[in-house]
Amino acid sequence: MDISTTRTSTPTTDDRLAEILANPGFGTYFTDHMFTVEWTPSEGWHDARVTPYGPLTLDPATAVLHYAQEIFEGMKAYRHEDGSVWTFRPEANAERMVRSSHRLALPELPPEDFVRAVDALVEVDQRWVPDAAGEKSLYIRPFMIATEKFLGVRPAQHVTFMVIASPAGAYFSKGVKPISLWLSTDYTRAGRGGMGAAKTGGNYASSLIAQQEATAQGCDQVVFLDAQEGRYVEELGGMNMYFVHADGHIVTPETGTILEGITRSSIIDLAGKLGHQVEERKFSIDEWRDGVTSGDIVEVFACGTAAVVTPVGQLRWAGGEAGAADGEAGSLTMQLRQALVDIQYGRADDTFGWMHQV
Ligand code: PMP
Repeated sequence: MDISTTRTSTPTTDDRLAEILANPGFGTYFTDHMFTVEWTPSEGWHDARVTPYGPLTLDPATAVLHYAQEIFEGMKAYRHEDGSVWTFRPEANAERMVRSSHRLALPELPPEDFVRAVDALVEVDQRWVPDAAGEKSLYIRPFMIATEKFLGVRPAQHVTFMVIASPAGAYFSKGVKPISLWLSTDYTRAGRGGMGAAKTGGNYASSLIAQQEATAQGCDQVVFLDAQEGRYVEELGGMNMYFVHADGHIVTPETGTILEGITRSSIIDLAGKLGHQVEERKFSIDEWRDGVTSGDIVEVFACGTAAVVTPVGQLRWAGGEAGAADGEAGSLTMQLRQALVDIQYGRADDTFGWMHQV
């Protein structure tokens, strides 16, 4: 893949950039450039380019606007103390995007091209990667959309892959605080044979009403159960789940209908290194409720790129609630969180070879 680069003639000024990076929030500000590459059956991937960031012009009949044939990824670039810039396990995101593309009948973007595309954008917009101080980062959003102008329902014959990036502030700017979860019993996220394991917009659209319910109930996030039996814990709207038992063993819901989080998989490796056995299996909501009541489950946490590791303080459902670890962040939860963050920011040895220098 040859990538051409056209730099903006009006880059964000140093003063304005400093202002943004001091308080970036999440998903609000975008860097000066974007990456684009097109695909057609006859030409394959072609016309790869980094250009000034700006709006797309789409025909109203563009397929993605009607049938949601789209997939995306979410990952971060981190600045280390020495000023160098690194991404975390970009090949894992690239491989997950390949799996998502199969499910959505989109063309496969070779993982090495995915990584090169991300590198090309981050390199041009390096100055947008916040300093190592605090837990700030540059959030990277690769996505692939059906750009063919056609209203027939079939896989698009013109597809566009893009990468944009947005500086992100620390998720917990005032210290890590346990979140509360609302158990959704009216809505599910994914069924057998559905799109649960794919990172595709429709999954998020379908989660919004359940998240609205959670917010109305005073909870931070929603937790979904399996669609078939309504018994097994799947995941949150944007995070995977972990349950720590009193004897030290850890359980995380098995894959199939959940998104296979890169953080989830990293926690499995890190916990193993710390001497904890990790089981990937079905985990019922009764096991959760009974476990926190009996004291068999001592810590519950969620994990994902945005918040890294988030302790869960409370689970609520229509007619009841169950606490966990007295609402405090558990010690193993915090130990795993610190271990991961230290690798990402280059403060600990990258023994797993997870970091990729841009
Ligand atoms: N589940 C869902 C539904 C998500 O959207 C995310 C965030 N990508 C995750 C889990 C966590 O995945 P990751 O660790 O790769 O961010």
